[in-house]
Amino acid sequence: MTSTAYSPAELLHRLRARTSDSPITHVEQIPAREGRTAPWPDWAARDVIAALNEHGIAQPWEHQATAASLAAGGTHVVVATGTASGKSLAYQLPMLSRLTDDPRATALYLSPTKALAADQLRAVARLGLDGVRPATYDGDTSREEREWIRQHSRLVLTNPDMLHHGLLPGHSRWGTFLRRLSYVVVDECHAYRGVFGSHVSHVLRRLRRLAARYGGSPTFVLASATSGDPADAAARLIGLPVTAVTTDTSPRGATTFALWEPPLLPPSPDHPDLPPERRSALSETADLLADAVVAGTRTLAFIRSRRGAEVVATMTRRSLDEAVPGLGDRVAAYRAGYLKEDRRRIERALMSGELLALASTNALELGVDLVGLDAVLICGYPGTRASLWQQAGRAGRAGGEALAVLVARDDPLDTYLVHHPAALFGRPVEATVLDPANPYVLGPQLCCAASEAPLKAEDLELFGGDVARAAVDGLTASGALRKRPSGWYWTHPGRPDVDLRGAGGAPVSVVESATGRLLGTVDQTSSHVMLHTGAVYLHQGVTFVVDRLDLEDAVALVHHQEPDWSTHAREVTDVSVLGIRSHIDAGPVRLCLGDVEVTSQVVSYQRRRLGSGEVIDTRPLDLPVRELRTVAVWFTITPRALDLAGVEPPDVPGALHAAEHAAIGLLPLMATCDRWDIGGLSTANHIDTEAPTVFVYDGHPGGAGFAERAYATATAWLAATREAIAACTCEAGCPSCVQSPKCGNGNNPLHKPGAVQVLDTVLNALATANPAPAPRQPGN
Ligand SMILES: [Zn+2]
Ligand SMILES: [Zn+2]
Repeated sequence: MTSTAYSPAELLHRLRARTSDSPITHVEQIPAREGRTAPWPDWAARDVIAALNEHGIAQPWEHQATAASLAAGGTHVVVATGTASGKSLAYQLPMLSRLTDDPRATALYLSPTKALAADQLRAVARLGLDGVRPATYDGDTSREEREWIRQHSRLVLTNPDMLHHGLLPGHSRWGTFLRRLSYVVVDECHAYRGVFGSHVSHVLRRLRRLAARYGGSPTFVLASATSGDPADAAARLIGLPVTAVTTDTSPRGATTFALWEPPLLPPSPDHPDLPPERRSALSETADLLADAVVAGTRTLAFIRSRRGAEVVATMTRRSLDEAVPGLGDRVAAYRAGYLKEDRRRIERALMSGELLALASTNALELGVDLVGLDAVLICGYPGTRASLWQQAGRAGRAGGEALAVLVARDDPLDTYLVHHPAALFGRPVEATVLDPANPYVLGPQLCCAASEAPLKAEDLELFGGDVARAAVDGLTASGALRKRPSGWYWTHPGRPDVDLRGAGGAPVSVVESATGRLLGTVDQTSSHVMLHTGAVYLHQGVTFVVDRLDLEDAVALVHHQEPDWSTHAREVTDVSVLGIRSHIDAGPVRLCLGDVEVTSQVVSYQRRRLGSGEVIDTRPLDLPVRELRTVAVWFTITPRALDLAGVEPPDVPGALHAAEHAAIGLLPLMATCDRWDIGGLSTANHIDTEAPTVFVYDGHPGGAGFAERAYATATAWLAATREAIAACTCEAGCPSCVQSPKCGNGNNPLHKPGAVQVLDTVLNALATANPAPAPRQPGN
């Protein structure tokens, strides 16, 4: 049913033939690789080897055996190899051998999502090893099951959230389990980056501290996608030295990787003076996906937004049904926020061949078994090369050939990348950025630790040494913790309220008023933009309109309706400077890194006619102001320097605004973030800097390291920004250069030539002020 009618090369040819312009800017051939096996290690349990043999694993790959043997010898190890390289055997072999050899030993498996833990449970359970009694322990586990698991399971599969909210606070009931804890597996550990990663690093330290109290001293085995310096990232995550195994010795089929730029649309007859626009990446991906289904190719399309995944699935289904009625049923959308049963059902349908194509959000929500697809379409650069390779790695059966296509969105970074393939194919992947010392993470985490067991002075070494000591002093002064001779205590009723996944608060449930049906969830930060009263919300291709967003109860009530408009939230933002950490004075230009407070508020939304985009009306909203203390990089230029550069005073706001947008668009080239992690503000006269200013700030409380990275790579970053704007063939600015999809001002004003003059002024000044610094290469 899923046999491929076309080889990747033929499919690519077929896709290319669809348009007259060639949308393909580059084709990279990634050669096949031979596999290299190793004998089973001597220490591995016979029963485990026999069970693995029975399930088709005759011998481990060399990297699996190497990592497994390091772990068996008590070395903390991270295996960082490509998708489908068999990372799980590297931890299963030592862990299951231990559980088999020592009938009292226990082990903990952590994955960033419930779906992955469920996959891992299936994989271990089918080996049928006596006495291991693996069990998932998550938000869906019933009270009775939890009791049974604590008493009997020796392999508990869970996630950091459950560890944080359930297992660690209730550690006294887990004392025996923790005392006997032999291994902690941290799967997909590259997912723990930014603020979330910083939180998880402390959850793992809390686990280590409590295990030690009960006498446990587990070995950590981490599995990561390919990433830069995995040993360092893993060591920061667990707080212990880690050895990395990075040579992938599994066999791989050849992959053809194409870079695809959607064609320009014909100019609108009504507005011939408007800049030409490219066809949207969503429409282009939907067409490619439909072609792939017609070709009988099992294909996964990755789309960055939830709404985008819904839109692509709907468009693909519609065009397939027009060609062959019923064929549209072979396509589905898949995203976070769907309920567990829905996700399982969709995954099973794709594996059985009942579905031929999925339009999905990001890779982590997908089960690990979902590999060996014929083709992967990546709609929009996923933000990092590491994610790009992880998504592309879903394609490729053993021994077969596969196709991956990156479809560029109409934005500066994607446009830059499809025309500079060396920025994708010639570079190592980024290192995972996380910062355990972020004060917005460290303080709350120390409170959690203290509420689990009083903090002793010697514990503080584990949580970061001097920064932890300073944080504990601050928490004591503010009354959050109480100091007694035996340590620091949490003496408040209840536990500290700490959310690992950001500043959000509880996710907002989307409920259909008429039926009470729970459609899905949206995180609180996005809810202001996605679920405000009157917003159009898509679920599995069905349109709903929000009747009411109740932030207090974290619920949005919706009703089914198919309006002929879309909704666009408008947001106002303000930045105030709290302090400067570092700066460079360069004559008329000043570059700063510092702490800021950002206030933002969704104030209204526009309704726009579907198709024409005509604005029907603007409606006010009454949503609260959100405040964010974070880190920003900013530059100022004197009005005189702008004048000398040829920027006329009336054009200054538009020039700065355009430079800000493009700079935000290009920052992901330097840092492991995407433009949605970053915000910006530009103004012709800022009250704190008293000069024309462009701010670019970290979108996470306390910062996640992005602004620091921007400051450190400012010359390379702003030079790439200048090049992206200057090289764009549009006249007055377009989404490929200076327009931004998330602009709270509706992309107004923007002055493209002025942006180039602004950036030239900044770059020239920085070059004279600081002739020596070698700009760091992107991605290093
Ligand atoms: Zn342009
Ligand atoms: Zn803007």
